[in-house]
Amino acid sequence: MNEDTIAAVATGITGAGIGIIRVSGTHAVSVCQPLFKGAVSLDKAESHKVYYGHIVKNGLDGDLTLDEVLITVFLSPRSYTKEDVVEISCHGGSFVISRILSLILEDKRVRLADPGEFTKRAFLNGRIDLSQAESVMNIISSDNENMLRQSMRQLQGDLSNKIHVLREDMLHEMAYVEAALDDPEHYDLTGYSDNLLIKINDWNKQIKALINSAREGRIMRDGIKAVIVGRPNVGKSSLLNALAKTDRAIVTDIPGTTRDIIEEKVYLSDIVLALTDTAGIRQTQDVIEQIGVNKSIDNMEEADIILWLMDASDPFSREDLAIEEHIVPEKTIVVLNKSDLININKDVDKLYSDRYPIVNISAKFGTGFNDLAEIIKMLIFEQNVDKSVDIFILNERHARLLADCSVSLSLVDKSITDGMPEDLFLTDLMDAYQSLGFILGEELEDDLVDKIFSEFCMGK
Ligand code: GDP
Repeated sequence: MNEDTIAAVATGITGAGIGIIRVSGTHAVSVCQPLFKGAVSLDKAESHKVYYGHIVKNGLDGDLTLDEVLITVFLSPRSYTKEDVVEISCHGGSFVISRILSLILEDKRVRLADPGEFTKRAFLNGRIDLSQAESVMNIISSDNENMLRQSMRQLQGDLSNKIHVLREDMLHEMAYVEAALDDPEHYDLTGYSDNLLIKINDWNKQIKALINSAREGRIMRDGIKAVIVGRPNVGKSSLLNALAKTDRAIVTDIPGTTRDIIEEKVYLSDIVLALTDTAGIRQTQDVIEQIGVNKSIDNMEEADIILWLMDASDPFSREDLAIEEHIVPEKTIVVLNKSDLININKDVDKLYSDRYPIVNISAKFGTGFNDLAEIIKMLIFEQNVDKSVDIFILNERHARLLADCSVSLSLVDKSITDGMPEDLFLTDLMDAYQSLGFILGEELEDDLVDKIFSEFCMGK
């Protein structure tokens, strides 16, 4: 257990109705006790019970009541951090919260908590593993139903359990090989490799399914990466603005004025898009604009979806055609904008309907957006969804470690297939086992743990 006692505002200083100050550590109760005036003294308070009272500052010229509060003591180990925790619910004004926190910090046994430090203690004290601790951050940053549901499952240990089972199976096999190498008289390795090969392939299949789920996990977390392309003046900025409902992109009649790449998280019907508007792709002498054009091409490679915007009211031109060179057809949707005007581009249907889905919209009047959402969903979710996976990888860190694990398992597979001796593939199997352990935070170095928790917010 950590000797320090830490304190922080757990709710953010927002001026909401209630603010919560959390204190955790050996001295949590004895630090808060003299500040709390209620029906019972805090050291006599029952754990997990809410008490009413006041926070009072003792001064030379008398006592000053700072606020009317509710206070709860959570005695170790049944608390968020597994240490003694005191939570003070006070009024949510920033001044009152700061005053109470300062009062607590006047006691030299307490210091201000670092971002994520409460959750870090929950991890270090063994209440949750690292992947569960990371899920707390995912829950806080969730902005849609799917992300929230998956983050909750991660907190409840669904991913951890799966990883535990895989690791136990691996450990079992490693122990058997070790034993057989040490004591060949009692353990027989005849035919063992063939059986192990079957297991390795099964594990690798499960790991790869998890790795594949990371794409959907990323989409849940960050939204569908969508990029809008089209020649100047087809309405790219207007579409971005209509979706973002702000005037962030510059909308203008002069071709080529959208020079910067602007990324915006927007809701389109029930999906979240991480939308990028780009400079119109066209030949240009203008250096700044050229940078934008190159970025657009990069963006298209990274995108999940490309919205190729055309103007229904203006003849389809060579400039439109030039864009086709750069797009990735499998993820492109032709979006015929300005469909509120007379459509003089009926040819677009004829030209492209067998190659791309086509949808009519009006960025100006906000029509056709639901149809667009349906087509995007069809394109994103219908392909390559592995129905056997119900756990989604939400964190890049987990995806990387799973990829490492898969590489190690493939090496084991190769050694066995090549008829290598057992002790050779043991090291690779150990690596696979370790990579999975890092997901749970086992054997992870301290500075890496610090780095992960530093991304948390204060009071968590
Ligand atoms: P960009 O160069 O592709 O970003 O195009 P803009 O968004 O700047 O739009 C160019 C012009 O087309 C502006 O005058 C917009 O008001 C107009 N515009 C954009 N979308 C629509 C639409 O759906 N209907 C109509 N009638 N005009 C539009």
